Amino acid sequence: MNSAGLKSRSSSLKRVVILDGGTGTSLAKLGHAIDDQTWCSELIKTHPDHVKKVHKDFFLAGADVVVSATYQAFVDGFVKQFSISEEEAYALMRKGVELAREARDEAELETGRHGFVAASVGAYGASLCDRSEYHGRYVENMTREELSAWHLSRIKALADAGPDIVAIETIPALDEALALLQCLEQLQVKAWLTFQLKDEKTTGHGEDIRLALKAVAASPYIVAVGANCFNMAHVDSFLRYVKDLPLLDKPLIVKPNGIKHEDNGRSPENFDIHEPAVEWVDGGQVIGWVDGGASWVGGCCMVDSTNIAHMREALENAPNICFLKKGEDLF
Ligand SMILES: [Zn+2]
Repeated sequence: MNSAGLKSRSSSLKRVVILDGGTGTSLAKLGHAIDDQTWCSELIKTHPDHVKKVHKDFFLAGADVVVSATYQAFVDGFVKQFSISEEEAYALMRKGVELAREARDEAELETGRHGFVAASVGAYGASLCDRSEYHGRYVENMTREELSAWHLSRIKALADAGPDIVAIETIPALDEALALLQCLEQLQVKAWLTFQLKDEKTTGHGEDIRLALKAVAASPYIVAVGANCFNMAHVDSFLRYVKDLPLLDKPLIVKPNGIKHEDNGRSPENFDIHEPAVEWVDGGQVIGWVDGGASWVGGCCMVDSTNIAHMREALENAPNICFLKKGEDLF
């Protein structure tokens, strides 16, 4: 085939990026209770080998991008939790990214496939340990500047470690997303941002997800947008609801939860995201998500590396789908 033929053939292929699953879920399976203020992030200090193993398992399973175990990490949190200095806490934040990078390098030697490292940033509400990240009502009592200031030091620490991208996830409210955009602009770093949903049309805090996605996609610092930590039964209807939304050609992300989440004794808030959804049987449903418009796909709570391996297998066997090529940039 001549080069023109190759080009027209490849342009009919849809490029899919495979993300990872639940870091906390996977660490819990290694026997860790993950209910402290900094959640599984404390394991960066206490069990770095386990954190690295979880990341590596996701890369080996076929994830192109793995997020660091820093979702709930913040400088003051580490200072209090470990009675360490601010400098040591900053270093611990950076170590979270470094562990993911070490896992990437080790996995790459085995698979020959280049992986990318995303520095995970969760909602302010996650640090409150009361499941506020699922309703986001704290944004009603905080200014955008206060939220932005809180996030700035953690994003700076993570960005200093040189990840390929920052992954801002489980954001329940548009106001918090806009505060985070201020941080990205100030620090000049690129990120993806996904909202937590209470149903297929609404963020955890109650905004129309169409408005929220459009507002965030307009930022030049945002490279992809979507939803994570929501009921898998809502994926198809969410995709139908946001179809045709002008997102400036930025990839649409879906990372739903798997089956029922163990509650660790904490009382659930007013959400149903952790109710049993459709069981993550064989990864085959991911083909429907890609057909529905998603192009960066992964999972959240209760999605482990086996699920991601099934997802990759299903996508590799599907027609008209291609993956990142060696040397190709993530965005
Ligand atoms: Zn989740």
